[in-house]
Amino acid sequence: MTDNKTVTKGTLMKGKRGLVLGVATERSIAYGIAQVLAAQGAELAVTYQVDQLAKRVTSLAEGLGASIVQLADVQKEGHLDQLFNAIEKQWGGLDFLVHSIAFSDRTELDGAYVKTTRANFINTMEISCYSFTDLARRSAAMMPNGGSMLTLTYLGSERVLPHYNVMGVAKAALEASVRYLAADLGPQKIRVNAISAGPVKTLAASGISDFRFILRWNEINAPLRRNITTVEAGNTALFLLSDLGTGVTGETVYVDAGYHILGMMSVEGAPEVADLLNHAKAEKIKERLAGDRREKQEA
Ligand code: NAP
Repeated sequence: MTDNKTVTKGTLMKGKRGLVLGVATERSIAYGIAQVLAAQGAELAVTYQVDQLAKRVTSLAEGLGASIVQLADVQKEGHLDQLFNAIEKQWGGLDFLVHSIAFSDRTELDGAYVKTTRANFINTMEISCYSFTDLARRSAAMMPNGGSMLTLTYLGSERVLPHYNVMGVAKAALEASVRYLAADLGPQKIRVNAISAGPVKTLAASGISDFRFILRWNEINAPLRRNITTVEAGNTALFLLSDLGTGVTGETVYVDAGYHILGMMSVEGAPEVADLLNHAKAEKIKERLAGDRREKQEA
């Protein structure tokens, strides 16, 4: 068996062209997916959200051999029109779509869901959920011979997990969208699936409070006793996007080292869990003391 970071070369995606949204850094889940797809012969179009990221994403895209690199903020219709025009002009069609995008105001990924504001609820839903439906409609129009679409979700859609809050609600809607899109687009031979990834240390994840705790918790308790790599997410994406997955649609596939099957934490991991909880308690006390000190200084 190869290790879980090695990208395997092959030809499973040879002749296939696809759009990948969500490459921000080398740690992005989309980057792991893009690496695996490129190594299997796929030709990629890669996007970045703002001009400031153009240089970084272009350099990553060059490493992937991407032939299209384009600005695309999913909240801007004009950006998406330009992106799909460019794809139409250069490729004349599309075989797959990878949507690896999410956003919510980080101040609301802390504390109670009940405090979610209307503005952040709508914004989170638009970027993290509606954008997939929008991109799916635009992509389907360029898939006359069928295709495959993929989005990324998290267990917080179906269980309450600390601080995931409105993002959990958006992911539940995203997973429901996957099923409706799969039903709509199936007759056109277009498959639509989601990967529910375990926690990975990325820019987006750093917006979630106590994320380090969540990572360690998973590592101690998941059946495989570790966290996943982005290449592992990529390998499952390869299955779903290539002809290996032709019988699968409307599905959420878990790539989480098995964490989602658990009903209780592992008993053998209890001493480590106790250490983790004590550490978290000490950190919280430190944070509270620092807050008290700040308040005193400001008073
Ligand atoms: P990431 O590297 O930070 O990727 C998130 C991407 O979303 C970034 O490329 C970001 O672009 C993009 N984005 C945000 N708002 C956008 C907008 N308006 N238009 C276009 N792009 C926008 O983080 P990641 O963890 O790989 O996240 C990818 C996906 O995996 C997300 O759907 C996330 O919820 C999901 N997921 C993550 C984990 C995890 O633990 N990391 C677990 C399960 C599922 P900018 O950087 O330019 O803002």
